[in-house]
Amino acid sequence: MGETVTTAARIDGKAFAEGLRARIGAAAAAFTQATARRPGLAVVLVGDDAASQVYVGAKAKACEAAGIASFEHRLPATTSAAELLTLVERLNRDPEVDGILVQLPLPQGLDEQAVIAAIDPDKDVDGFHVINAGRLSVGQEGFVPCTPLGCLMLLQDHLGDLSGLDAVVIGRSNIVGKPMAQLLTDANATVTIAHSRTKNLPEVVRRADIVVAAVGRPGMVRGDWIKPGATVIDVGINRLAPTEDKPKGRLVGDVHYGEALAVAGAITPVPGGVGPMTIAVLLRNTLVAAHRHAGLDAPEGI
Ligand code: NAD
Repeated sequence: MGETVTTAARIDGKAFAEGLRARIGAAAAAFTQATARRPGLAVVLVGDDAASQVYVGAKAKACEAAGIASFEHRLPATTSAAELLTLVERLNRDPEVDGILVQLPLPQGLDEQAVIAAIDPDKDVDGFHVINAGRLSVGQEGFVPCTPLGCLMLLQDHLGDLSGLDAVVIGRSNIVGKPMAQLLTDANATVTIAHSRTKNLPEVVRRADIVVAAVGRPGMVRGDWIKPGATVIDVGINRLAPTEDKPKGRLVGDVHYGEALAVAGAITPVPGGVGPMTIAVLLRNTLVAAHRHAGLDAPEGI
């Protein structure tokens, strides 16, 4: 008798994000009815980075579809730091603007930290301001970066209570790894943060009931690193070299999907896993910001 290969459940981030966006749309409509204005997100794009143009376009489209006003500010790559800071100051004061997002990376010569620091923390829907990182760290209400919050939503939807589970987060960036570890800790998981200097990474990962991979290395996490039945969240988005049938290059995650499928209990695919959650959570954060600015309780269930 041959051995049965367990096939992991596919965590469908695209479907979850669609549901979330529909709930946000309904809550945004109720907000507009109650306050006679739509929640508003200002997106600032400096320069002509091709990927950033696509992201900014997608964010504006998602806003409009959810009944959130989108204010796009496209500035030339030659924009000075003073001009950019003046715009951010203006958006900070604008009562129609609940959330401000400055698309990164900025062109060379513009200091990203200085620009993030200039955003009103209560409009910082990306959650990148040090005030919001601090609030997350001490358990105060603020804004949490969209990608890790989206990962937490998928995990809680799939597993329910995370109490006492062993989680390994691979990657320690300020926008994914660190806030992810904090969120998992707050959800009562026992968290290990692994990174480029971690010794015996496969062994460390093998202990985990939950693996979150946020590295940026295609297929780095192999099937035999994964504890049978573990839940795997693959944040990585890596474009492989173009081939004849994929002239733009195939998108893959940080986890070797084919191998992981045979071992894990559940896994997010790339694309269609974590990626769609990021924009949905951005809309959610904007909606929450609008409620706070209007002195209303944030809607339930989003
Ligand atoms: P980053 O480059 O800022 O951080 C990468 C982290 O990986 C670092 O902390 C580093 O210590 C760790 N690392 C590097 N090499 C390693 C190794 N060999 N072993 C273990 N750890 C190692 O990247 P980031 O901004 O956190 O993004 C990580 C990945 O997630 C990228 O592929 C990025 O494209 C993707 N990403 C996806 C979304 C999304 O919406 N799905 C959002 C943000 C980032």
